[in-house]
Amino acid sequence: MEIGKNEKECPGCALPVDKAADVCPYCGYEFPEQKSSLKWAAILLAIIFAYPLLRLLLRLLHL
Ligand SMILES: [Zn+2]
Repeated sequence: MEIGKNEKECPGCALPVDKAADVCPYCGYEFPEQKSSLKWAAILLAIIFAYPLLRLLLRLLHL
């Protein structure tokens, strides 16, 4: 199977899929790289929310 410049191979069905696609139109496989920025945003948000809790916990431990 030939893979074009603007295509990527689907790990689910091994068919060439458009590079911009985040879901394979043949088997419905979801490409994870499209979500990596979202994952990092979630991690960053978790850190932002966890930081005040961590400081509170440290303050409680010092008492
Ligand atoms: Zn597929």
